[in-house]
Amino acid sequence: MANIKLKEISTRAPKDWNKEETKENLASILAKLNELQNLLYAESQHAILVILQGMDASGKDGVVRKVFTSMNPQGVRVHSFKVPTAEEFSHDFLWRIHGVAPPKGIIQLFNRSHYEDVLVTRVHKLIDEKTVKKRMKAINDFEQLLQEHNNTRILKFYLHISPEEQQERLQERIHDPTKQWKYNERDFEEAKLWDDYMAAYEDCFEYCNDVPWTIVPADQNWYKEHVIAEALLKTLQKLDMQYPGLKKG
Ligand code: AMP
Ligand code: MG
Repeated sequence: MANIKLKEISTRAPKDWNKEETKENLASILAKLNELQNLLYAESQHAILVILQGMDASGKDGVVRKVFTSMNPQGVRVHSFKVPTAEEFSHDFLWRIHGVAPPKGIIQLFNRSHYEDVLVTRVHKLIDEKTVKKRMKAINDFEQLLQEHNNTRILKFYLHISPEEQQERLQERIHDPTKQWKYNERDFEEAKLWDDYMAAYEDCFEYCNDVPWTIVPADQNWYKEHVIAEALLKTLQKLDMQYPGLKKG
């Protein structure tokens, strides 16, 4: 995806998109996902890795809650990546990532990911540009390793919100008692670096697109959830899985 300009891509559903129909459709997709996840687990031939990236308040947690709770928790795992611990920091940047890559039969969600290592670290100039390029190459190789050597299908989603929507959601965190726990005053400081983050994301889309990114318009949760659920459904359907039948011996 060369020359993507995020500013030129809408953060909202296409005009006249039907919200009620989309919500109904989502319910039927979630039911199908539940069945296919059971089959994925039973067959245990493929692993699925779903990467969620996006600015603060872009709705990553909401995707986990609304799309992935329709499936059996026995076969779905979530890992949220935070600022690296001292131990994590003493290893290469992919060490903590590889340790939670999905085994066959499992759907693994990454709430943030190895991309933070070429986003937040780059924007804050904690690494130089030469290191960014090297890390991007390492990321491409790593994703290829998971695909080729553990039958992993990787889906990468960028939750695309507008800066205005982000401000509204951050404000909501101050006032809504059910959201106050998410409030982090540093988020307002990060938001000021918006253009630098967008440039860093655009480079990820350009240089780490061997496994393609999906840019998800994310100002409206109902639309965002539908796009992600549908992409996951299509991926699972294409695997052409079979129940293994009775175990021999
Ligand atoms: P949250 O998603 O609100 O729980 O915040 C997690 C924080 O951890 C965010 O500010 C991320 O930018 C930060 N973070 C995650 N991974 C890394 C990383 N590899 N290096 C530095 N900061 C990170
Ligand atoms: Mg946060």
